[in-house]
Amino acid sequence: MSKVIMALDQGTTSSRTILFNEDGSILSSAGAEFDCYYPQDGWVEQNPMDLWQTQLDTIHEAVRKAGISLSGIHAIGITNQRETVVAWNKKTGEPLHNAIVWQCRRSADYCEALKREGFDQVLRQKTGLVTDAYFSGTKMRWLLKNNEEAALLAKEGNLALGTVDSWLIWKLTGGQTFATDVSNASRTQVFNIHELQWDQEILEKFEIPASALPQVMASSGVFGVTDSKLLGCEIPIAGVAGDQHAALFGQACFEPGMVKNTYGTGCFMLVNTGNKAAESQNGLLTTIAWKIGDQVTYALEGSVFIAGALIQWLRDDLGLFQDASETEAMALSVADSQGVYIVPAFVGLGAPFWDAYARGSVFGLTRGVNKNHIARSALEAICFQTNDILRCMEQDMGQKITKLRVDGGACRNQFLCQFQADILSIEVNRPEIIETTAMGAAFLAGLATQVWGSLEEIEAIRKENAVFHAKMKQEKVNSLLEGWNKAVGRSKNWLSEQNV
Ligand code: ADP
Repeated sequence: MSKVIMALDQGTTSSRTILFNEDGSILSSAGAEFDCYYPQDGWVEQNPMDLWQTQLDTIHEAVRKAGISLSGIHAIGITNQRETVVAWNKKTGEPLHNAIVWQCRRSADYCEALKREGFDQVLRQKTGLVTDAYFSGTKMRWLLKNNEEAALLAKEGNLALGTVDSWLIWKLTGGQTFATDVSNASRTQVFNIHELQWDQEILEKFEIPASALPQVMASSGVFGVTDSKLLGCEIPIAGVAGDQHAALFGQACFEPGMVKNTYGTGCFMLVNTGNKAAESQNGLLTTIAWKIGDQVTYALEGSVFIAGALIQWLRDDLGLFQDASETEAMALSVADSQGVYIVPAFVGLGAPFWDAYARGSVFGLTRGVNKNHIARSALEAICFQTNDILRCMEQDMGQKITKLRVDGGACRNQFLCQFQADILSIEVNRPEIIETTAMGAAFLAGLATQVWGSLEEIEAIRKENAVFHAKMKQEKVNSLLEGWNKAVGRSKNWLSEQNV
């Protein structure tokens, strides 16, 4: 009988459980959403018990749908929203505060202060990250400064500060295991990605006691077993990785230079850089992709802030179509965008421009432009932005990238995939199962529990759904990129500093 691997995908908007068969096919899945709280402008919180309860509910639902019992699950893999922090009492297992979600800006002032004193250089060198409220460390510091119970428990050595993976592992093992994996640790900004340990200098700076932090483990390996009082059986938790890292693994990007891009609300692009932590000259993040055995694999990460969100905006705010999928036929109904460029700098521009004062713009409008041209130029804008990041990655790695693997909701769009291949002048490869995040977690767990014996075996499981080859003439690509760069140039610095 085929072994069944359970992937827990604890995301920002929902918790999901997906059961995978040995051949990589999906046996069943279940999902549940939970609330998000916004106690102040820019603050984002979630209830840790909601994260746990929705995850547990979906575990039961997925198993019920598959018509199997929990004892039939071979191993569990966990993937999760990254950087979000949970604080709990090690003695009681009770959370001390709402989870502070990655999007939360509450530690932004402290980050600015760190930059003023130049500590951002230390952070960049040791953690591979830019100094930003996004990451966990300054959120942990905030909790210690603002939650009396947390501060008291920290003194006694009974405080647990963890990312969402640690929280789920703790709950699943009935408090037996307090651990995280290197990929999640690498997003905390208190983990030294070269020495592979919590960094003493940074912990002292942030006033975080090392005793409050989980043990850091490899991404593939047994973290612990589920509490039999909870699930009625002991299932090994055998793979853990942050969502984007799991997606890179789920896309089988095992060799240096292999890249995946996830087209969702924004785009998240990661390139495998092998055993080398590549330093970015373009503001990309250096991060740990995963650790298997003693082997650490690093990655460079870049993101496009507005991708699918631009399509949503055209749909919901301009009412140009009813469903995002209509953009494919709209784009294909015209020969080109008729010289229209949309620069979706709704929240400024990220890599490689880094201009917080840029704002969104549409260029090249003439009387002949209709909504099909606009839909097309929106999809093209997603591809141009992806191209900008991929070129930064090539520069930082000193290596050409020859293939892109795509996933995320918007990669269903055939036009988008083809235009992406054309603009990049490389092959774009879309897998059959675009649930690559959960798949990555399942792969990591299955690798540790002898379901699959090697990365080659896993590679063979990943099935292609479509391959898009670059067809566009280079002159045409060049002229489109020229137009895009001109449009970006004119969107820059739209807001003067005084107006912000
Ligand atoms: P997220 O996980 O970030 O919420 P998804 O992976 O579910 O996002 O992708 C949804 C995003 O992709 C939405 O922003 C939507 O506008 C866009 N999208 C979904 N389907 C298509 C499509 N066929 N063509 C273009 N954009 C799409």
